[in-house]
Formats: sequence, structure tokens, C-alpha cells
Amino acid sequence: MADFKNEFSWSYSRGGLFNECKREYYYNYYGSWGGWDKNKSDNVTRTLYVLKNLQNRWQWKGSAVHEEIERILKEFVSTGKLIPLDKSKTRVTEIMRNDFRSSREGLYWNKNGSLRNEPALFEHEYRPQIRDEIWKRNYDEVILCLENFYKSQVIEEITGLPKETVYSIESMTGSYFSFNPELYYVKLDLAYSIGDRIKIYDWKTGSGNSDELQFLIYALYAHEELDFDLDKITVTELNLFENYTKIHTFSPEQIDYAKEYINKSIEDMKSYLINTDENTANMTDFPRTEDRKICELCKFHKICFDLE
Ligand code: SF4
Repeated sequence: MADFKNEFSWSYSRGGLFNECKREYYYNYYGSWGGWDKNKSDNVTRTLYVLKNLQNRWQWKGSAVHEEIERILKEFVSTGKLIPLDKSKTRVTEIMRNDFRSSREGLYWNKNGSLRNEPALFEHEYRPQIRDEIWKRNYDEVILCLENFYKSQVIEEITGLPKETVYSIESMTGSYFSFNPELYYVKLDLAYSIGDRIKIYDWKTGSGNSDELQFLIYALYAHEELDFDLDKITVTELNLFENYTKIHTFSPEQIDYAKEYINKSIEDMKSYLINTDENTANMTDFPRTEDRKICELCKFHKICFDLE
């Protein structure tokens, strides 16, 4: 597996990490490369790879909700049957309980191969003293999000939709920009068409402001890759934690802004590489952030300052 080539690609989250801390970006996309092979990778690569796969409790909450909704919708679209809320809650409870135990025992350090779906919580690695009521609150919020999902209009909307009109249920898709030769990835929580319109949903599981740029990138993908006219694209932000819905539409000027942002982001990322064709990088070319608040929540904290 370590013989895979590390190809450059762009995503909204990759751009965000690059802006946050160059060194964290390096560890995530270059330093940890090949670390899935426990027997062949060196100690630093292996450690970076394991740490890269940690999720903090808020990310875990988000994943638990997204993955359960994915199961609900995929079953519903393929069979026409909706799992009752109580059964969905029981399922997610069981999964979270098993994930929690596995992570608490640190089993992720032992597993060879990909850790993408392996439970590995930041708090178990860095804050083992965290109180039970904090974990309980996190779990309760997952259940609240699911309850709000069942009360939302989504199920009614997709009832009876032909399968071929559903473009995405949490699918990670790779495409090439029309305005830049690079590969990019987007993941739409749910996207389906009705006639010449496309409706994209984005589930939010926490409070705070949403990022308009992320929605713009969804719209850009629907416009360029799926060929929908801009005025036929909507992104519906469904906040399952605070239980509100906000619909976003997009202008040509906003799309131009997104293109400029992406071009600049790719150019900046590539300017740090030693060889852009080979996508190779030197760790010392990627400076650490000076904002120690970012470091406190960083997955790589325990190894970062021991390295050059
Ligand atoms: S610990 Fe701080 S400097 Fe090091 S990678 Fe993380 S955020 Fe960057």
C-alpha cells in the first residue's frame, strides 16, 4: 500500500488546514504518508499517521450523526422503508458505545492498514481525565440531532423520488475544475434533482456560523460538473442541533470569487513544495503556527515540537 503515489488534490477542508498551520498541513498530507503500513513505516511516519486519524468529540458527534443519516437515507432510497426513530437511536447508541470502548483502550495504535474508519478519539489520546458528563452531553446531542432530522421535511421530500435523481448521499466525489487542471474533492450530504433544479443539503450538528465558501464550492460543483444552471441550484443548510433551516442561492459574482479563492489556495499550497510535478515536500519548509491556542487542540501536538 505504501507504493501509492501521493497525488496533489484540493478540497475545502485541505485549504482550511493549510490556512490554519502550515506544519499541521504538512503532517496531515505528506509526513504521515505511508504510515498505514505498520510494519514498513518508520516511527515518525507511523505516529503522524495514527495521530492524523484522531477525531475530537465534536467531530465524533458530527460523524455519528452524518453516518447514521447516511444509513437511514440509503436504506430508505433503496427499499422505500424508513427505519423507525427508536431503532435508529438504538443502532447509533450501540455503534457509539463500541467506538468509545475501542478508542479508550487505544486499539487504534495496534491496527495495521487504513485507520479511516477506526475509532480514535483526541480526548483519549490527550485528555483521558475528561468527565463522564461531558461524554454524556456529546451523546445526548447526537440523539437530539437525530430527533430533529426525523422532524425535518427531508424524509417527506425524498419519498417516492426515483433513485436516479439522487446524486449523492454522503458520496465523496473527485472531479477536475474547468478553470484549473487540479483534481478536487467534494462530499455532498444529500443532493437530488427535481426537473431542472438541484437541491443540495448540508447537515450541521453544532452551533455557530456556517461557512458560505463551503456552500459556494458545492454550487460550483453542481454547476460545472453536474451541469445545472446557477439559478437552479440551492444549498439548504439544515442545522440539526439548533433546529433551523437556511436556504442559500448563488450569483455569478460569488462563483467568480470561489474560483479566485481556489486558484489562489492551490497556488499557495504548491509554492511550498520542492517538486510540484512529483508533489514532494520538505518538513522544514512548513512553519509552525505561532498561535498556541491552535496547538492546544492539534492532533499532532505530542510529536510536533520534538521534530525539527
Ligand atoms: S502543534 Fe501547533 S505548530 Fe504543531 S502542527 Fe499542531 S498547530 Fe501546528
